[in-house]
Amino acid sequence: MYRSEEDYLKSIYELSIEQNKTQVKTVELVEVLGYSDQSVNEKIKKLVAKDYVVFEPYKGVSLTNKGKNEAIRMVRAHRIWEVFLMKELGFSWLDLHGDAEELEHASSDKVISKLYDYLERPQYCHHGNPIPDLNGQIPKLATHRLLEKEIGDNFVIKRVLDQKELLMYLMELDLSLDSELVVVDKNDFAKEMKVSVGDRIITIAYTIAVKLFTFN
Ligand SMILES: [Zn+2]
Repeated sequence: MYRSEEDYLKSIYELSIEQNKTQVKTVELVEVLGYSDQSVNEKIKKLVAKDYVVFEPYKGVSLTNKGKNEAIRMVRAHRIWEVFLMKELGFSWLDLHGDAEELEHASSDKVISKLYDYLERPQYCHHGNPIPDLNGQIPKLATHRLLEKEIGDNFVIKRVLDQKELLMYLMELDLSLDSELVVVDKNDFAKEMKVSVGDRIITIAYTIAVKLFTFN
């Protein structure tokens, strides 16, 4: 299968997990993948013809079992390579994406399963994205955003969006996965919140607070 097709399946899979539903709207795919409506629609037709997805007009696109298995294979490979690059080779979480993307497409199932065992079966990558096990079972996804929290609430960062600018920004603030925050102020007018981290107080814009997640 073509690499671009694999990326589609992966995006459909990730969106459906994120939203906890099986059907994904094509506009959402257009947004995530950054391609035109036309090219997304054409690609979906090809994926339907190959029995990877089912398309229902006005409802969206969902993965067939075949498509889902393929998506899980790619997502697993990507996240397992990320763990390896960071844990064993000392990559920063900023630099994981490109190499993990290359390696994911180049690895056999055997390599991935050996690597998974070697890393002692990690449940999450360093962005907090869950790694499906060999049966396709997925550890819990952190879905509650920092923005949902109120003054006085605790918030442990359990997942961040894998966006380079965001990760750089968090590094500047010395925040990472498992950082523990307490909300000390929320200003709906300025659209920013203040949080304490240890003995520091940090200001976080609402636009950033929607990209940080915790379990509850
Ligand atoms: Zn990741």
